[in-house]
Amino acid sequence: MSLSRLDLGSVQTPVEVADRLADALGLGPGDLLVKRDDLLGPGGGGNKVRKLEWTCAEALAAGADTLVTTGAAQSNHARLTAAVGARLGLRVVLVLAGRRRDDAEGNLLLDVLLGAQVVWAGDVDGPGLEAAADRVVTGLRSEGATPFLVPFGGSSPSSVRGYAAAGDELAEQVPDVRHVVVALGSGGTMAGLVSSLGVGRVLGVHCGAVPDPHAAVRRLLSDTPVAHDGLRIRTDQVGTSYGDLAEPAWQAVLLAGRTEGLVLEPTYTGRALAGLAAAVREGDVRRGERTVLVHTGGLPGLFGHQEARRRLRLGASGDGGTPLPQR
Ligand SMILES: *Cc1c(COP(=O)(O)O)cnc(C)c1O
Repeated sequence: MSLSRLDLGSVQTPVEVADRLADALGLGPGDLLVKRDDLLGPGGGGNKVRKLEWTCAEALAAGADTLVTTGAAQSNHARLTAAVGARLGLRVVLVLAGRRRDDAEGNLLLDVLLGAQVVWAGDVDGPGLEAAADRVVTGLRSEGATPFLVPFGGSSPSSVRGYAAAGDELAEQVPDVRHVVVALGSGGTMAGLVSSLGVGRVLGVHCGAVPDPHAAVRRLLSDTPVAHDGLRIRTDQVGTSYGDLAEPAWQAVLLAGRTEGLVLEPTYTGRALAGLAAAVREGDVRRGERTVLVHTGGLPGLFGHQEARRRLRLGASGDGGTPLPQR
């Protein structure tokens, strides 16, 4: 396993005070900060960049000329793999769950812009998607290419180091941080933060991307000496399924936008904020305790989310826009 890290444009990201949002949640002034990992790296940015700096180092060390990865149709990880592949001069093949379509919205539009090739795996579950990716890898090999399979969500025991470093960065920026709240997808982001900050300070909010979030995070920490008993994971924000709009997450998206001008999306960061709101209501996170919400990115997913688009259209309030005042 390579121990090196590529520099793909990750920088120290800012931490911003969010007092109006804190107040709306029932926290005090200075209690709530937002770590802006949405500002990280190429391709529209987001948390996957910190992980790709490790997995792409492995790919290059293995002599790869092609990156292959998997995801949902609106995968932020797939989009960032496409961006990073372009930057490294590698071909990128994205094996996405779903069926062929001609319109490209949100992340898919960027996948095309960034030059990635999309392969539709059909209506498959996790194992079905992995099997499809294996077939694509085999096909590329038989054509003489040297593909490297980036794991689902970019999460592997080695890429966890990306968020371990982010945890160290955060501890320097906010030495008295008591809670770090983060969306949990494939689990690598939470695992890295836990390995830096310990289980007690990190609250993961499960988004429904994997069947067993505890097992996912534990597996990613299995190479490390980090104790993972007592992981704090909320599983109450998924709603009906990963891709469906969950009402508390949607309300959280509106709240962040309207109190702070902070744009979240319903799949990940909206669920993370809704999980924080629930944790405050239940007394798990209290006034006076320094709390950091990690903004992991995902803005293109908002533009690719059909129900979010439906709810935000101007006509949704019935008028299609306010008419110019008569004078
Ligand atoms: C992938 C993703 C996450 C979750 O990160 P994992 O490391 O997969 O758990 C959170 N937020 C956004 C916007 C993401 O794209």
